[in-house]
Amino acid sequence: MDFSEYINKIRKKNTKFVIVAGGVISGVGKGIATASIGRILQKHGYDVTAVKIDPYMNYDAGTLRPTEHGEVFVTEDGGEIDQDLGTYERFLDIDLYKKNNITTGKIYKTIIERERSGGYLGKTVQFIPNVPEEIKKRLYEAAIGHDICIVEIGGTIGDYENIAFLFAGKSIETDLGKDNIVYVLLTYLPIPPHVGEMKSKPTQHAIKSLSETGIFPDIILCRARTPLDEPRKNKIQIYANIKSDYVISAPDVKNIYEIPLNFEKENLGKKILQKLNLKTRKEPNWDKWKKLIKKYDKGVNIAMVGKYVDIGNFTLKDSYVSVNEALKHACVNNNVNLNIHWIDSKQFEKDKSKLKILSDFDGVVVPGGFGSSGVEGKISAIEYVRKNNIPYLGLCLGLQLGVIEYARNVVGLDANTTEVDADTKEPVIDILPEQKEMIKNNKYGATMRLGSYLAVLKKGTKVYELYRNSTRIDDDFNRIENIDKMGETFRFGKLTMDDIRKIKDRVVLERHRHRYEVNPKYIDILEKNGLVFSGYHERKDNTMLMEFIELKDHPFFVATQSHPEFKSRPLNPAPLFDGFIKAILNKN
Ligand code: GLN
Repeated sequence: MDFSEYINKIRKKNTKFVIVAGGVISGVGKGIATASIGRILQKHGYDVTAVKIDPYMNYDAGTLRPTEHGEVFVTEDGGEIDQDLGTYERFLDIDLYKKNNITTGKIYKTIIERERSGGYLGKTVQFIPNVPEEIKKRLYEAAIGHDICIVEIGGTIGDYENIAFLFAGKSIETDLGKDNIVYVLLTYLPIPPHVGEMKSKPTQHAIKSLSETGIFPDIILCRARTPLDEPRKNKIQIYANIKSDYVISAPDVKNIYEIPLNFEKENLGKKILQKLNLKTRKEPNWDKWKKLIKKYDKGVNIAMVGKYVDIGNFTLKDSYVSVNEALKHACVNNNVNLNIHWIDSKQFEKDKSKLKILSDFDGVVVPGGFGSSGVEGKISAIEYVRKNNIPYLGLCLGLQLGVIEYARNVVGLDANTTEVDADTKEPVIDILPEQKEMIKNNKYGATMRLGSYLAVLKKGTKVYELYRNSTRIDDDFNRIENIDKMGETFRFGKLTMDDIRKIKDRVVLERHRHRYEVNPKYIDILEKNGLVFSGYHERKDNTMLMEFIELKDHPFFVATQSHPEFKSRPLNPAPLFDGFIKAILNKN
């Protein structure tokens, strides 16, 4: 489709845009504010989608270090994306795709490839207009068919790398008219301790910077430790020339899911709709959401065993944000509060007697991870929880190390993963042969299993029960039909749609991001020694990939090769997380 066709489709459906940009500093919750606006507009009866713009030159977030940039979120179609997309999915309860994320890297790659293949023959390709045009094209592509598309521009106004995106944001106004776009500015009002007063000056500067791009904010969301008082709202009204009604307080909250409710106290939904020339289609009913927030009290203590020595305190949470949220969702569903404790696995390598501390926790999680650091400590932790009946949930690496532990301490093999020891005698976790070939040729990117893959669950297992007692089997069948339409049937492996229909009641889709697999050669011996493989993916070439393990005679010992945390939603927790918390509560 060429550009004019995109615009025509947008005009025909009368799709509207909400652009969210940030001022003053980053890291004050722009993603959560964007997601909250989306949830609010949904509650007013509109079909909403969301796009995150990341101004970095990386093509996607796959190569970014989580400890610097936060978690790498994985979409159904295998996109490795900024953690904000996870926040949108959780708040909006929708699936988003690669196309919902735009990076400078993607834009430039497309333009240069198009230029090389003669797509601009005879013309000079320039920053303006070609870059904003490609940005708009992608925004329209993601927005087609929806009522409202919310676009979050990463970084902060005034960053050089934001210019093209703000330019594109402004020119949507020219394409579609001012009635069809709202600009939201999220700022921060500091309260310097030595002054003890909330300062609006940085916000005034942010408004000024934004206006230099031709954009005047319709709505200003003011992040601060406390709610904004009238004098401050008035100051901003005068400076920004926008009525103080459109200056909205966004104070710190204990629980991020309170934010849409706080915004609605100031009628943010109606105010945005009015600017878009729209009316509330149905009065929002927040009863379920409010109940959810009330439930965040009482507590279970979960140990997250990882390699944390090389990570500063501030970045811990962001590196595993989806795991934290999935645990929270499961806790709320079971009316308990959650306390996460970060346990550095390296301490167990130096001193095994330290493993005793794990007995102080209600449950243990080994989350995903790469590389060899801290791995032996994690394996010792898994041995400890297995032997001491402490509920265990293993995610990706957490499954691989669970298999190694079992192979070593129950089967008696000198086992390891080739990620840690390439020459291990018993490579129970290994890379598949054709991947080895790709790695030799430096094609690391192509060796990852990314995005959702179909798993067939074995009846009679705990994992099967957990999925069956949730809505996921039905939800995932809808997703399967969607994937079939998208033509990404490699995600089904060997199975055709007809095969899937026949075993519909035990098929799920979970998202992946890993290179190594349980080595098929060892499945038999592990099973004979009591390890239960509760679900598998069968590839076209008949290779069996193990997706879930569990143990009988243990209060809860379940691990998965996938990342179920990516599909957990506040009102619909991921079944394995829910089962984990339920097992803890039943044990106590
Ligand atoms: N490092 C392991 C692999 O690549 C696990 C990855 C993960 O935990 N996401 O297979």
